[in-house]
Amino acid sequence: MFSGKDSSKTFRPKKNIPEGTHQYELMKHAAATLGSGNLREAVKLPDGEDMNEWVAVNTVDFFNQINMLYGSVSEHCTAESCPIMSAGPRFEYHWADGQSVKKPIKCSAPKYMDYLMSWVQEQLDDESIFPSKVGVPFPKNFLSTAKTILKRLFRVYAHVYHQHFQSVIHLGEEAHLNTSFKHFNFFIAEFNLVEKRELQPLQELIEKLGSSDS
Ligand code: ZN
Repeated sequence: MFSGKDSSKTFRPKKNIPEGTHQYELMKHAAATLGSGNLREAVKLPDGEDMNEWVAVNTVDFFNQINMLYGSVSEHCTAESCPIMSAGPRFEYHWADGQSVKKPIKCSAPKYMDYLMSWVQEQLDDESIFPSKVGVPFPKNFLSTAKTILKRLFRVYAHVYHQHFQSVIHLGEEAHLNTSFKHFNFFIAEFNLVEKRELQPLQELIEKLGSSDS
């Protein structure tokens, strides 16, 4: 079986949006506006587009970015270095998905990441949750599922910033991480997708990023 931990450095396999679909076009649109450098503009819903679809495409994109970012530091994130899944001294996460794991499990960060990224991948691969085909409607609870996914993906950024920033700098990935998180942060703020209290572990950084223009 394909294990994400190979030379491509993604933690889990990349999620592809099939070519020829409307979502593929939206993804290309997002990439093009991002290229303009103005992240605040780039996160806005394009004229005439469906919000669910826009959130879906961007969620897949963030999953892929985070997958790569965590993949690049994952060899430094071990049960020894990170015996608990934390984001600084004040925040600790226990894994539960509300379905197969109802009672929160206290585990190491790499184990938590494995649970988290596998869970997200399952959601993204489920056509009844994330329909990719034209004409297949999004489920009524789509936005609430997307919110849960984004809330959990935020924790990967939080852990990487708090526990692995030195490795990120060492790898020369600092600008990449900052741009990715800034994009993520503007996106969730634009559509109010993650509650403020969930963002506390990176509150200072968020304030700093928000004060610059693009
Ligand atoms: Zn770690």
